Amino acid sequence: MILSLLFLSLNLSSLFRCSIARGGTLHRSDRSGYLDGSIYGHLGRRLYSENNQMSEEEYIEKLEKLAEGYMSNSDLEKAMKEFNSRCSNISRIYSIGKSVLGVPLWAVEISDLPGAKEAEPAFKFIGNVHGDEPLGRELLLLLANWLCDNYMKDPLATLIVDGVHLHILPSMNPDGFSLRRRGNANNIDLNRDFPDQFFRVNDDMDLRQPETKAIMKWLEDVDFTASASLHGGALVANYPWDGTEDTKKYYYGCPDDKTFRFLASVYSRSHYNMSLSKEFPGGITNGAYWYPIYGGMQDWNYIHCGCFELTLEISDNKWPNASEIPTLWGYNRMSMLSLVAGLVKTGLHGRIFSSDNGRPLPASVAIRGINYTIAASKTLADYHRLLAPGKYEVIASMPGYRSKSACVVLGEGAVKVDFVLDPETSYNGTQPLLDSGCDFDSKTGFQVLDFLPASQLEISMLLILILAFFCFLMKRRVRSNHLNYKQSLGARRVVV
Ligand SMILES: [Zn+2]
Repeated sequence: MILSLLFLSLNLSSLFRCSIARGGTLHRSDRSGYLDGSIYGHLGRRLYSENNQMSEEEYIEKLEKLAEGYMSNSDLEKAMKEFNSRCSNISRIYSIGKSVLGVPLWAVEISDLPGAKEAEPAFKFIGNVHGDEPLGRELLLLLANWLCDNYMKDPLATLIVDGVHLHILPSMNPDGFSLRRRGNANNIDLNRDFPDQFFRVNDDMDLRQPETKAIMKWLEDVDFTASASLHGGALVANYPWDGTEDTKKYYYGCPDDKTFRFLASVYSRSHYNMSLSKEFPGGITNGAYWYPIYGGMQDWNYIHCGCFELTLEISDNKWPNASEIPTLWGYNRMSMLSLVAGLVKTGLHGRIFSSDNGRPLPASVAIRGINYTIAASKTLADYHRLLAPGKYEVIASMPGYRSKSACVVLGEGAVKVDFVLDPETSYNGTQPLLDSGCDFDSKTGFQVLDFLPASQLEISMLLILILAFFCFLMKRRVRSNHLNYKQSLGARRVVV
């Protein structure tokens, strides 16, 4: 009876609750010439010397030809502002800082409630980290416009706009773009400018580039669950770690290697031909296995911000002819959408509350066996833990509160688990051991380890009954509007 009620409440709640929810060999080996401050930089000079039949003027003309048909920085700003005014109901435009030359780093947020704090995951796309890899900035504008055009028409667009706060920074390096080179105006490779876990080369704040500082500040302001940066020069989805401690090249997975492989595969398999790569099996690669880099953005995101970042190499050619952009958009569109929608359709989500006053608790969430912890958001205490399908024991903990854990089996859909933590002072018993493990033999595919004392258990069941009744009422109210796509989420919810 109790189990039936619990599952009834789970099924009903899933109906009304919305989503829970680095390019190429040249790119990586190009580490020289950082002090060359000339207008076309070290890369330009090197290519120029390699093509020395060409005069410098001819070379500059060649570079300019490469950019024909691409948006200039002012075109990009205009396109973003036009997007925002055309789609003002689901977007806002803001700047996260300025480049060395003072160009604003414009970003757009796409959501049904842009700018609002919601118990939803946030995703960021960053394009043009390297100035000479401009395809990403074009594709990101196409993505924004596609979402706007298809909101409330296409289930995937609607799912993303309603269930995710998607932030898009089409160009992290506008100066590099206008200079037609990899580095920024100071000729620094921005994907080597972040603090590194092994080497302290970038620890001096005063030497950090303004574009890097802007990204770091951005992650203080927004709780990003996941992100991707877009590069060119290869065709592969790259995941952490990007470097090894001894600088040698070998596979070096981070604690969430399984999840990262899953996420990278979501991108490559949804892509027109990335997964068919002969160089990279499945179209994915561990960064350090490909070639180690230090000071990269993706490792920093994962280590310091709880943000699962991929580095996506989306075209073998860094400067594909502009006429190919629509085709390349077609190749990447479903990958980009699937990656963002994955924040709602997969993983473990929920909120954490205090049992004494119902206050949201910014507790930490850990998975047994994975040496990595994410934090629930400070204001709403929602958490979004990306995970590959599998069986997990999730543990919520907060200083001053008794930890609780739940066992979950993640299949195709997302699972929602809310935690209600008891203050340590309100409990007189002994702290239960959390190493009891999970019995995954159960055919229900879901169980909860409940550590509540008997008296609180009764209260909890009463609350679940009330919740089930409330769910039933809510279901009736919103079913007609949201049934189709929310059913497709298949998320289950439970309170622990
Ligand atoms: Zn790049």
